[in-house]
Amino acid sequence: MSERHVQCSACEVLRPESEAHNIPTLAGEQYVDGYYCSAHAGAALDAARAHVAGLDFEDDTRDDMMPLVTLHALVRARGLMSESLDPPAPGEGLERVRNEALALLDLLRHTRLPIVEPSALCSGCYRAVPASQVRVIPWFNDHAAAFVTTFRCGDCFAASLADTRARLTFGGPGEVARLAEFFHRHAVTIHEHRRGDPPEAVRPLLALALDHLAAGTLKLQIGETVPLNDVRSAPSGPPPAAAPAPSTPPEPAAAPPPAAPEPRPGPSLWQRIRRAFGRSGD
Ligand SMILES: [Zn+2]
Ligand SMILES: [Zn+2]
Repeated sequence: MSERHVQCSACEVLRPESEAHNIPTLAGEQYVDGYYCSAHAGAALDAARAHVAGLDFEDDTRDDMMPLVTLHALVRARGLMSESLDPPAPGEGLERVRNEALALLDLLRHTRLPIVEPSALCSGCYRAVPASQVRVIPWFNDHAAAFVTTFRCGDCFAASLADTRARLTFGGPGEVARLAEFFHRHAVTIHEHRRGDPPEAVRPLLALALDHLAAGTLKLQIGETVPLNDVRSAPSGPPPAAAPAPSTPPEPAAAPPPAAPEPRPGPSLWQRIRRAFGRSGD
C-alpha cells in the first residue's frame, strides 16, 4: 500500500505524509492538529505564534488560558515537552508558560509532530488518509441495488459525488427512495420522503443534501454505517431498528478532531473505524 496521504488545510492538495507538517492550529478556543504542506506550514506557524504572543491574561472578559493550556497539552501528547527546552524559557507564572509555548512553536520549524490519528482508506484511489480527512458519501452499488456508504479522499470526492448526483438526477423513483433511505440511516431524515410525498417533491431535497455534502456543511460520520452485507440481505426492509438517534449536530467543515483524547460516551472514533472496516470487538 502506498504511503498515507495528507491534505493541506490551506491549499487542499494531498501529499505523502512524509511531506506533511502537523502544526497546532486554533479551532474555536482550543489548539488542535492542523495539517499543512511545506509551502503553507510556515504561515500556519506564524499565525499560531502571533496568536500566543497576543494572548491577554489580564482581561477577565476573555478566557485566554484555554488556548494556551490546550496548546501545551497538544504538543506534549505529540511528544514535545516544555521540560526539554534548553535553555528554559524565561519569565514567571503565565508569562513563562507563554514563553515556553513560543519556544516549542519555534522548534516546529525544524521538528515534525507526528500525525497520530487512525487512517481511513479512499475507495476511489485506495490511498489511506487521516480519518478526520476522509469524506463519507453515498455511492450506488449495483449488486446491492442501493446507495451505500463509501469513503473518498479529497482528490476523489468531487467526481464520485458527481456520479451520485447523476444517479439522483436521471434515476427513477427507486433511486430517489433509496437515496432518501441512505440519508435516513445517517440520521438525516427527509420528512417529505417519510410521509410519502411523490419522488419529484423529494428529489430536489436530496439534491440539496448533496449540495451540503459537497460544501462540507453536512458531514456524515465515518461510523454508524450499515455494512454492505446488511443492505444486500434486506434490500427492501425498513431501516435498522437499532439505528442511533442523531445526538450530535454535523461537525463544522474541516474541523480536526479534538486534541485531547477525553473519554466520551458512545463508541470511540477508533471503534467506529474498526466497525466501518468490518472488524468486530469494542
Ligand atoms: Zn498547502
Ligand atoms: Zn482517493
